Amino acid sequence: MISLSTRHCWLALFVLCPALPAPTAHAQAEPPNILWIVADDLGHADVGFNGLEDFTTPHIDALAAAGTICREGYASHPFCAPTRAGLMAGRYQQRFGFYNNPKPPRHRDHDPDFGLPPEESTIAETLSEQGYRTAAIGKWHLGEAAKFHPLEHGFGDFFGFLAGWSDYYDTDLVWQRHRRDGRAEDPPAESSRQDYLTDLFTDEAVRFIREADGDRPWFLYLAYNAPHTPLQAPQRWLDRIEGIDDPRRHIYAAMVTAMDDGIGRVRAALEEAGSAKDTLVFFLSDNGGVGPVNGARNDPFRGLKGSLFEGGIRVPFVAAWPGVITAGAEYPRPVISLDLHATSLAAAGAPVPEEGDAVDLVPFLKGEEAGRPPHRALFWRTGRSFQAAARMGDTKRLHVDGTDDRFFDLGKDPEEGEGAARDPALAEHRALDEAYEAWEAELRPDRPSDASGFKIPQQYREVGLDPPEEAMDWQRRHDRREVTLEKALPK
Ligand code: CA
Repeated sequence: MISLSTRHCWLALFVLCPALPAPTAHAQAEPPNILWIVADDLGHADVGFNGLEDFTTPHIDALAAAGTICREGYASHPFCAPTRAGLMAGRYQQRFGFYNNPKPPRHRDHDPDFGLPPEESTIAETLSEQGYRTAAIGKWHLGEAAKFHPLEHGFGDFFGFLAGWSDYYDTDLVWQRHRRDGRAEDPPAESSRQDYLTDLFTDEAVRFIREADGDRPWFLYLAYNAPHTPLQAPQRWLDRIEGIDDPRRHIYAAMVTAMDDGIGRVRAALEEAGSAKDTLVFFLSDNGGVGPVNGARNDPFRGLKGSLFEGGIRVPFVAAWPGVITAGAEYPRPVISLDLHATSLAAAGAPVPEEGDAVDLVPFLKGEEAGRPPHRALFWRTGRSFQAAARMGDTKRLHVDGTDDRFFDLGKDPEEGEGAARDPALAEHRALDEAYEAWEAELRPDRPSDASGFKIPQQYREVGLDPPEEAMDWQRRHDRREVTLEKALPK
């Protein structure tokens, strides 16, 4: 970790010598604006650039064409909150004991002391110190207690909801606009209860971009909750989808289309503000899709949200920065959501934490580092060690409690078929075991409640295990919910 004194030293440089070139390797005269767009439970196959066929995502595809598609882009966790904690902190979230989704206050496992630890240095704190104007818009999910609030983690503005999901229409329950001075504002006059939450987040993002004063760069964390359940989309979006008979997939497609349109509006606002060429943009999903529930597809991968097969962690992943990151390119080596943090700090001229979990991707995406991968290895682990995985080169080790570890060659078998048993004679297997064990030894233990992670029957059946009662409960709850287009509409 960087020391406070180092960070303040850079801050002093920024404040005292604003004309000094930013201390970055990218030869940027000015620090760029930084925009992270995070989708929620969007499937790997559900963007045009990953082969989507039954509807379209023209605006996300246009962003991808303006930048580089990371073909082997990963989330650092197979479900929501831990991935977001890693994004904020720029290091594996397990290092500070963040393995699970914080449960809402009404939940029997609610722990008021579980959230993004106040002592973690976040991207918003560091960029604020660099002189950035910052905002978080959308889903937070990093603790609902006051001490975990986005404004307590360095954001200048927050507009969104603190929990893990929200109704898309009944937004007065979740509407929170806070500014650093502590005022909580009512919804803007032009909105109403019947506005669609995805549109509201887009509206606020556009407003934030238009408010740019030109003197200070900005950082916007735009965390859409689309296309997470509940499956809700207004008629105008449902009408845009043609030829999909399954109502679940139809509503999902409408929700993704609404988000795609929103991303188009955000990109148009960047153009209008004259900011597009000076903005580093990332787009990714926080985890894989959960097809049986939200209708997502993770083709060609096995597994889904909650699973450490590729389908749970391999996500649509794009980086764009005009004139810096190669446009219209694809990057073939593994990168991870944590890298957004280091890349953004480096772009802003801030020191990158030396721990090394997160890597500045710009030299790799410019082709300056063709000879080596950004990461020697990548790691995943869910609470109570139900599942763990590691990847080095094309070799992946998958551990699921109650089964024998499997090793996959993702170069030859990206769909993770049978895999192979551990072979101590193979150097790749030994190296992965050693790397994983060294990583795990550095982690903070998980909490007792972390046994109740995101568990669904398919995860267990897929590896030949009987699902526990908790997973069956989850299934029964979802089976009771009838999905129809009418139920997707406002009440
Ligand atoms: Ca999610």
